[in-house]
Amino acid sequence: MYWLGIYGSLNNSSIHTPGKCFARILATMEGVSQTFHFDVLIVGAGPAGAAAAFFASKQGLSALLVDAEQFPRDKTCGDGLTPRAMRMLEKMGLAGQLTATYRSNGLKLHGFGGSVTAPWPDSPFGEVGSACRRTEFDHLLVQHASAQPEVTTWLGATVHSPTLQGGRVAEVVVTHEGVDKQVRPRHVIVADGVRSTFGKQLGREWHRGEVYGIAARSYCATPLSDEPWIHSHLELRSPDGVAQPGYGWIFPLGNGFANVGCGALSTDKRPARVNTKKLLHHYADSLAVEWSFGAPSEVASALLPMGGAVTGVAGPNWMLIGDAAACVNPLNGEGIDYALETAELAIDLCTASKDFTLVWPFVLREHYGEAFMLARTLARALTYPQFLPVFGPVGLRVPILMRSAARLMGNLVTEEDRDMVSRVWQSAGRLMVGARSESPLWS
Ligand SMILES: Cc1cc2nc3c(=O)[nH]c(=O)nc-3n(C[C@H](O)[C@H](O)[C@H](O)COP(=O)(O)OP(=O)(O)OC[C@H]3O[C@@H](n4cnc5c(N)ncnc54)[C@H](O)[C@@H]3O)c2cc1C
Repeated sequence: MYWLGIYGSLNNSSIHTPGKCFARILATMEGVSQTFHFDVLIVGAGPAGAAAAFFASKQGLSALLVDAEQFPRDKTCGDGLTPRAMRMLEKMGLAGQLTATYRSNGLKLHGFGGSVTAPWPDSPFGEVGSACRRTEFDHLLVQHASAQPEVTTWLGATVHSPTLQGGRVAEVVVTHEGVDKQVRPRHVIVADGVRSTFGKQLGREWHRGEVYGIAARSYCATPLSDEPWIHSHLELRSPDGVAQPGYGWIFPLGNGFANVGCGALSTDKRPARVNTKKLLHHYADSLAVEWSFGAPSEVASALLPMGGAVTGVAGPNWMLIGDAAACVNPLNGEGIDYALETAELAIDLCTASKDFTLVWPFVLREHYGEAFMLARTLARALTYPQFLPVFGPVGLRVPILMRSAARLMGNLVTEEDRDMVSRVWQSAGRLMVGARSESPLWS
């Protein structure tokens, strides 16, 4: 991709601008080991962590961005960027680079004998989406964050062994280039993804009684990779014809390939008994002629905690963001937009609050509570095998429901939305919060 040319390849395990180490990091020698002091330690350099580093620097906070992997690295994903994600990327000065390669106008939804075209709605987030392979997208974000004046980046480095004092993270160990380094941060942003191994050490718990996703993606060569619509197939059937509780997607990438994948929804009580990789091959085969697909390559699957179904997301000086906080839309599995948004919200809080324990879950609920609660309730309905075959055909034939579906699939519901569909959604959301208050939604 062209931006790799601009920045050069990222092989160094430590990135900093000249003088940064000495000017902004107070490194002291304590016995044989060094201790580093930063305003913010950011664990994980996916979209959430890289954005947090970017916004920290904008606020004048010194930030240490750490990731266990070297970049570029792959991340199993659909690679789709909603207008909501694009608005955050615009703030970060990156939207133009992404839309130069590929722009999406909205969704085409298919299934149950129907097809509907749903342009991205006119909304505060804009009407342009994009898509980009995560190997390239995450690399771009890490490079961009690392180029900010207050950011020091350590890659191939793992954060572990927190020392807690009254719930505060006083110190952590970062194993970097074979050396254990002590880091003493004022604040810690935990952006360590779906498994959140570091978050677990702080008490993060994922509640699998709520809906979660299992999904697989692949890359298929196609001459239609500039197609400006992303495609979702709501009627997803197994090779023996049984309707599955999920959907398939084709996200063109503008580079001769499309990201082709499928996901299914599950709960502890109604686990989706689906081999997503097999289902993906069947799905891609069924569309191979229409899209002139090559064979699916780089097939990979992953789990997705969704809809805020985790607890233990904050302590006095630490906050979980992005996937670590289960900030993923239960209806479509998209989380890059929320990863970027929660990064900015968390950094804002670093400058505004002395103790995050109660205020961070409150902020998450204020921003996403209603929408996530309703979305995961609807998603839960989809885990009942009888739901889709009955309601799917109705949904695809009633325009108002389709517009609603498009909004839900695009993560585009906000308080400002004025049309009737939004108002129904918002009111229903309020009712659901009351009705389901026993369910864990951050805390
Ligand atoms: C199959 C699938 C399809 C999806 N499709 C889409 C889509 O089309 N659009 C969309 O918006 N979202 C999609 N999502 C969701 C999206 O991938 C996530 O929401 C997004 O990656 C969240 O970013 P993150 O920064 O929170 O976590 P990640 O991108 O997972 O980054 C976490 C980082 O933390 C690092 N790390 C972990 N532990 C440590 C540690 N102890 N020390 C140092 N580093 C550590 C990891 O190496 C990793 O790089 C999809 C997910 C799946 C599984």
